[in-house]
Amino acid sequence: MAPSKPRSKEWLSRFNAIPLYVRILLAMVLGLVTGLLLGEHSLFFEMPSKVILQLLGALAPPLILIAVVHVLMTTEISGRTAGRLAGLLLLNTSVAIAIGLSVANLMQPGTWSEFKKPEPAASREATTASPVDLLIQNVPKSILGPLGDKQNIIGVILIAVAFGVALRSVKSKPINDVQNFVEIAYEVILTVLHWIIQLVPIGVFAIVAKVVGTEGFAPFKAMGAFVLAVLLALALQTGWYLLRIHFFSWVSPMQALRGTRDALAMAFSTDSSTATMPVTYACLTENVGIREESASMGALVGANFNNDGTALYEAMAALFVAQLLGMQLTFSQQLIVVVTSILASVGAAGIPEAGLVTMTLVFTAVGLPVEYIALLLTVDWFLDRCRTTINVLGDVNVSCLLDGKLRPAVIGVGRNE
Ligand code: ASP
Repeated sequence: MAPSKPRSKEWLSRFNAIPLYVRILLAMVLGLVTGLLLGEHSLFFEMPSKVILQLLGALAPPLILIAVVHVLMTTEISGRTAGRLAGLLLLNTSVAIAIGLSVANLMQPGTWSEFKKPEPAASREATTASPVDLLIQNVPKSILGPLGDKQNIIGVILIAVAFGVALRSVKSKPINDVQNFVEIAYEVILTVLHWIIQLVPIGVFAIVAKVVGTEGFAPFKAMGAFVLAVLLALALQTGWYLLRIHFFSWVSPMQALRGTRDALAMAFSTDSSTATMPVTYACLTENVGIREESASMGALVGANFNNDGTALYEAMAALFVAQLLGMQLTFSQQLIVVVTSILASVGAAGIPEAGLVTMTLVFTAVGLPVEYIALLLTVDWFLDRCRTTINVLGDVNVSCLLDGKLRPAVIGVGRNE
């Protein structure tokens, strides 16, 4: 007879079976009730969301480093196609960011509600003696930082525990060459990131409780406007893709959409363009009839760099938070947002919430307080799905454009013919 599972394990597996977005929604409701009940006292809840964001921010640089090294190392690209691919990716991402910034500048979602401005950094610094702040100071802001900083022993221990446990599952994998090493490093970072993402519902609960308790419902009006603005910008980006497909490839926009609908639906439901990659490839080659070479360049190689939905979202989020806080970003600051959003979207892994991790880089580059990313957590479970779908549609677009205007002589299956 199989030994019965201990009750705690049973609970844990039941809890893990609840999808993340459901947990986030529940956390929002719980946060709302708590905020209403506690009022101003809910200021205390600022701390957990700060800690979670700090952890996400700490993982961003190594994640980007390893992800980009990994892709460059493992993909085979011929020189000419690589050039075309890079050109297409850069054009699409720039258009995405231009659309995002234009919509955010025109709609000004951040001004749709009054919001208390944060205290200036100097006065915040002056009151940082509380135990809560001491705790936050010990949560590592970067992976290597605590190693160079003698004071932060707790930070070193936290990193050691996280990576020690994450390495347990790969400890007996042989490392034969440099590629193995990079792959294992990538796997371990993703494992740790996955754990931190499990904490996101706690962050959502905390930030909703704090905002509702101290500010009431006003900020959520702006959040609603932000969601609308992002959806509008993503819709415009879809229009751009379909127009380009119409004019510069043999595929018709309807054929492309119909042929890849399984991949698009999967992107929306899994929140992960990487998990969707094989389905995108199969849809392109089998349903649409794209040449294998174009499909693999666009949907397998390009997909690693091509995250237009993420780029658009990061740029819009930076502008939104600036508007919310009444800080007008100058033209040159918006240019910095463009450049860092491109880098952050290239570095974002195709997994749920990865864009939120790399967003910390965009915010820091223009001096926006990263703790406001926590506010975005409340809508990110939904917007992440939408931008992931656009990320995949971007791969479809690039594959169709690479395939050119000449229809292949023998079309695979062509279900939509
Ligand atoms: N979830 C997105 C993707 O898989 C990345 C992001 O968070 O923007 O493409």
